[in-house]
Amino acid sequence: MSEYWMEEMHTDGYKVSWKITRILNEEKTPFQELSVVETREWGRTLVLDGAVQITEKDEFIYHEMIVHPVMYTHPRPEKVLIIGGGDGGTLREVLKHEEVKKVDMVEIDERVVENSKMYFPQLAQAFAHPKARLFIEDGIKYVKETDEKYDVIIVDSSDPVGPAVELFGLDFYRNAYKTLRDDGMIVVQSESPVFFQDAFLKVQKYLKEVFPYKFVYLTTCITYVSGPWTFTIGSKQYKPGKFPDDKKLIDGLKYYNEAVHSAAFALPNFIREML
Ligand code: SAM
Repeated sequence: MSEYWMEEMHTDGYKVSWKITRILNEEKTPFQELSVVETREWGRTLVLDGAVQITEKDEFIYHEMIVHPVMYTHPRPEKVLIIGGGDGGTLREVLKHEEVKKVDMVEIDERVVENSKMYFPQLAQAFAHPKARLFIEDGIKYVKETDEKYDVIIVDSSDPVGPAVELFGLDFYRNAYKTLRDDGMIVVQSESPVFFQDAFLKVQKYLKEVFPYKFVYLTTCITYVSGPWTFTIGSKQYKPGKFPDDKKLIDGLKYYNEAVHSAAFALPNFIREML
């Protein structure tokens, strides 16, 4: 098949075009339209319901930034829960922290995991780690029903459409709060503050209602819809402003470091005004 342009629609007036050199797989799972394509600029790319989730070349930014700020803020993140994250990138980063004893991951769509094993082995290798357990289940139901308690919960969800809608809801955060230990922390990918302002503001409102402390931080994921990308932390006790003096940075990270940690929490005025 010859090359073609894939259009990723962001609003009625804004779209991004990607040159596709090869389609590796296209399928309709019970939850979403899934495709894995080879792109000219960004290498292999996973697309769910028309939205790019990860690309081979820049996935490290999102995965390092969703994981390390919260994992370095919690003094002993031994037991971690990941909701979503079916490609395995978040799991890979969590397992780099030696103090971690157990990671449970709850992904609703087994086909995302299977496609990652087939096409993104550098991410999916984490599934074979002895500290990792994978549950194919709805994360909303899991936090509602589980008796387990975690130090850290990481919500690596897709955009608030289809099965991910309720991952941005108040009940989910209330159940996540109860699933955390007394000094636990949650971090959620809270979308673009420009293109998904409603979702971003909903996360702010609900996490503020449920947790004593809430913090927003930013990064730039090059291949997500343009501009800053937000993450939001809800915390029962700890505050993440600065990299802790008593911890050592993991070797070999490509994005996150001590200075990036502090800088990520500096918010421009237009975002401060939204909060
Ligand atoms: N980095 C990505 C982004 O922001 O574009 C997110 C990547 S990850 C592939 C998102 C995952 O969340 C998907 O695999 C999707 O199946 C999963 N997911 C969506 N709703 C879910 C739910 N209710 N419970 C568990 N996993 C869910």
